[in-house]
This record gives sequence, C-alpha cells and structure tokens, in this order.
Amino acid sequence: MSDTKPEVLAAARLAPMYTEKLQQLYTLHDRLHETDPAAFAAVAPRIRALAAQGETQVTDELMARLPALKLISVMGVGYDKIDVAAAKRRGIVVTHTPDVLNDEVADTAIGLMLCAARQFPAADRFVRAGDWLKGPMPLQRKMSGQRLGIVGMGRIGKAIAQRAQAFGMSIAYTARSAKPELPYAFHATASGLAAASDFLVVITPGGAGTLKLIDAAVLKALGPKGILVNVARGSVVDESALIDALKNGVIGGAALDVFEDEPRVPQALIDMPQVVLAPHIGSATRETRQAMCDLAVDNLQALFAGQPLRSPVPECR
Ligand code: NAP
Repeated sequence: MSDTKPEVLAAARLAPMYTEKLQQLYTLHDRLHETDPAAFAAVAPRIRALAAQGETQVTDELMARLPALKLISVMGVGYDKIDVAAAKRRGIVVTHTPDVLNDEVADTAIGLMLCAARQFPAADRFVRAGDWLKGPMPLQRKMSGQRLGIVGMGRIGKAIAQRAQAFGMSIAYTARSAKPELPYAFHATASGLAAASDFLVVITPGGAGTLKLIDAAVLKALGPKGILVNVARGSVVDESALIDALKNGVIGGAALDVFEDEPRVPQALIDMPQVVLAPHIGSATRETRQAMCDLAVDNLQALFAGQPLRSPVPECR
C-alpha cells in the first residue's frame, strides 16, 4: 500500500454510488472489521473516518478499535443505530445528510397515502389477474379534503404538510414541542392527534425516544376508517399491535415503507390486502441518493482538508 490517500472504513454494505466515490478518493476498507479482523487490526490505527448509512449500526466497541477515528459520515438523515453519546465522549463527530431528501420522502409519503386510500397496487393486480373482465373493482376511499395528522413536524413533516395542502387536506401534528409559527393545529399526544385524523403519517426519528410511540392505544384512537402511513422507522410503530389492529378492523388500513426487522416483513402484513408495502424506498431515487452521497462525501473531504464539517447531527454541533 504505497499511496498516501486517507483511509476510510465502510462500516456496512454501502450504496454502490457511495462505495465508488469513496474508492476514487480514499483507500477504502470495505467492512474489513467483519471480514478480516487481523488485517483490520493492522490498518485500524490509521483510519480517521467511518462511512455509514441511515440503518448502519456503529457501536462503542467498534469505535474503541479505531483510536484515530474523528468522523462518522452517514449517508442518510436518520442515525438512530449510531451510539452518538459514545462518539461524543471519544471526540468523534457524526454527520448526516438532512434537507436534501425532504422532497423525496414527502413524495413517498403522499404516494403511499394515495395508494392506501385508492388501492392503486391492488388495482394493478386486479387488471393483470383478469378480474376486470368479471366486473368492476370495489369502490375505494377519497384522500383529498380529509384530515391528515403528522407525527413529527420536522424538515420532512413540513414538506408532507405543504403537499397535503394542495390536496385540500386539513392538517394537524404532534411533535416534542408546538410550533406556533406553523398554521397547523398542535396535539400534545399521538393519541389525541390520531383521534382527530383520517390519515396518520409517522415521520419522527427512530431510537429510544420514539420506540413504539404508535401503540395499540394510538391505533384505537385512529379508528376503523383510519389509515396509518409509516415512513419513519419500523421501531416507531408497535408492529404486533399494528397487525392485531389491522386483523381486527381497529384501523382501516396501512401503508408501510419501514419495518421492525428489515428486510424481513411479517407474513401477516404480506397476507393483508388492505396493507400497502414498500421496501424502505423513501429517498430512493437516483437524483436524491446522489445529493445524499455528495453531502456525505463533502463531510469526509472537509475532515481531511481540515475544514469545518458541513452537516453534523444536532448532538455534535
Ligand atoms: P427532523 O427535522 O429532526 O424532525 C423530526 C421531528 O420528529 C421533529 O418535529 C421532532 O419534534 C419530532 N419528534 C422527535 N421525537 C419525538 C417524539 N418522541 N414524539 C413526537 N415527535 C417527536 O427530522 P427529518 O429530517 O424530518 O427526518 C425524520 C426521520 O425520518 C429521520 O430521522 C428518519 O428516521 C426518517 N426518514 C425515513 C426515510 C425513509 O426512507 N423512509 C428517509 C429519510 C428519513 P420537535 O420538532 O419538537 O423536536
């Protein structure tokens, strides 16, 4: 290894575009800590940066094996599986990629709401199966003009609200704190919001603070016509309570982009026709992933150039 490029460890399998860019710019050790511990031990003292994605777990134990580590650059806005407290204690900064994906995730939320209300995936299956020849598809549910509750009124929550206004929806939200500057009704609890909503969209961070925030009581409050849309993290919704609520008609339907144990989706959800499923594609377009990749790489470049980091997570600012 004669080159003097900075050395970076990929903490998990990364998106190909992120991996390719890292390989161009740096000496990339792709998951070497998992595949070859002896080789990893030899290079670890030189590794100053870790590359990760939104779902990557980075433990205190891994950081302890990297004495020169200064940065964990996450390609993604969520970072709930990174031990940020341990990183701070060790003088390591965590960066993420906020804002550049707001439009995409908001588009996904609206698309999933429409799919759950109007059953477009089922309509596609209906035509392909030849069922139209036997008669029309059953009538579905209107979305425009209905009551939307947004759980988490941050960057993406606001982008969802903007879009929902164009559908003539009335908008209310819950968050840790009220936002008096916004023209939407605030509810202090998810249950209170659910009781006042036809559609409930979840878009909070994951992690301990929101674990099973959407539980059986919130689903009961949403009611038999209510539709739940989760584009946040699987951990925010109590998945077994959700399955029970769907099975027993406690809520009317759901559209889910995220799950408790991805990529494994419970068979009970797969079997339910009133549930729309997506494989965690909230930000998954070429354009948006490129913007996320660029920002994640900008943070690495800034570190190695001795410049201020572009987008540290709030805890590290
Ligand atoms: P953000 O700007 O930090 O907004 C998060 C919002 O959640 C804030 O309004 C916050 O309240 C609220 N919140 C936090 N803890 C809460 C709690 N315990 N109860 C109620 N509300 C709570 O984050 P963002 O950029 O909008 O992203 C939100 C999340 O979306 C990410 O962290 C990630 O998990 C998820 N995401 C998913 C995908 C996907 O592919 N499906 C893609 C991108 C992001 P305050 O405003 O009062 O602090």
